[in-house]
Amino acid sequence: MDGALDPGAHRTPRHPAWRDVDEATWRDWRWQLRHRVTSEEHLGELIALTESERRGLRGRAEAFPMAVTPYYLSLFGDARCPVRRQAVPLAAELEREPWDMRDPLAEEEHSPVPILSHRYPDRALMYVSHSCPVYCRHCTRQRKVGDVASAPAAAELEAAVDYLRATPKIKDVLLSGGDPLSLSDDKLVRVVEMVRAVSSVEVIRLCTRNPVTLPFRLTSALLQRLRAFHPIFVSTHFNHPSECTPEAGEALNRLADAGFNVGNQMVLLAGINDDAMIVERLNRWLVRHRCRPYYMFQCDPVAGTAHLRTPIATGLAILDALRGRVSGLAIPQFAVDLPGGGGKVTLSPDRVVRVDGDRWIFRDFKGEQFTYVDRPRRRLDVIS
Ligand SMILES: *Cc1c(COP(=O)(O)O)cnc(C)c1O
Ligand code: SF4
Repeated sequence: MDGALDPGAHRTPRHPAWRDVDEATWRDWRWQLRHRVTSEEHLGELIALTESERRGLRGRAEAFPMAVTPYYLSLFGDARCPVRRQAVPLAAELEREPWDMRDPLAEEEHSPVPILSHRYPDRALMYVSHSCPVYCRHCTRQRKVGDVASAPAAAELEAAVDYLRATPKIKDVLLSGGDPLSLSDDKLVRVVEMVRAVSSVEVIRLCTRNPVTLPFRLTSALLQRLRAFHPIFVSTHFNHPSECTPEAGEALNRLADAGFNVGNQMVLLAGINDDAMIVERLNRWLVRHRCRPYYMFQCDPVAGTAHLRTPIATGLAILDALRGRVSGLAIPQFAVDLPGGGGKVTLSPDRVVRVDGDRWIFRDFKGEQFTYVDRPRRRLDVIS
């Protein structure tokens, strides 16, 4: 239990199955993890499953199973619900397209040691856990997550930290997975401590979806221990305003109050959040909770996610609709992680109407045109 919380003050309505659980138990993250719903049979007792969901659950039980916390399941509505669609597989997950891949970002080719990917000169990503409270149907790392047996061993962790020590150009270390917050407080603090002890590492990033799927995991006790290793940035993953509950808001506030700089990485998902109004509502809520929209990702071509992918033009149209109308703080960068391992590229809507010699003609957010007269670079001696 988290003493800083005021139980009962802010509550998301629970699924009736857990109505009688007392508030302290409900907010105990270990209780939430122990009571995750992981079988078709159990889920079918809680919600009216569609035929497509039943086929998806059966067809994916081996390769990428379902798991949902009671908290996240309590946000479910009908079969079109954006929260339910992120957690319960559909029959469409069994379909394959020729360009689908198992490891679209070629993370395994960029792994100098088993639990570390080193793609950019100054950054590295470590996989410190292979489980998550909820398995997101669009997950890029579905080849890894859910496989509890593949959790990294102490020797692998040591090898990754040795690599960081031997590679001082790495300044920014992402702790990812799976979800690093699936580790116990002691294990997580130990990992952070080991990375922080590498003198060339400047910034640590904790990549976690727990604020969305299990906000009670972000206890004041854990944050107090972690803040000793600042600067730590947190990357989280809200995708829809229906996930923006009082409990999630409290978790973001606790993070910000404890000095964490929090950013959001959403993934564009067809029929879930591929709409400018939805992204605007989500991002305004995030900024109010001191979480900065960082990336809006094009969905990676992972096998089983074809039905969730949107056209690249959709992401551009959403950014075009936001720019000018919405605070720049609420506008993320639109990124495509290049299949095959090229890394991320960002795209923005084209505001240049044409270039006539040194005259650049732009269109503003209302569609009006404006000219900027360009000049060659001047030498500094114009000052004297
Ligand atoms: C995304 C990613 C990063 C971080 O990239 P930023 O653009 O700095 O957020 C680092 N390493 C790997 C392997 C990544 O996939
Ligand atoms: S929390 Fe992240 S790693 Fe875990 S299933 Fe969701 S997208 Fe994948």
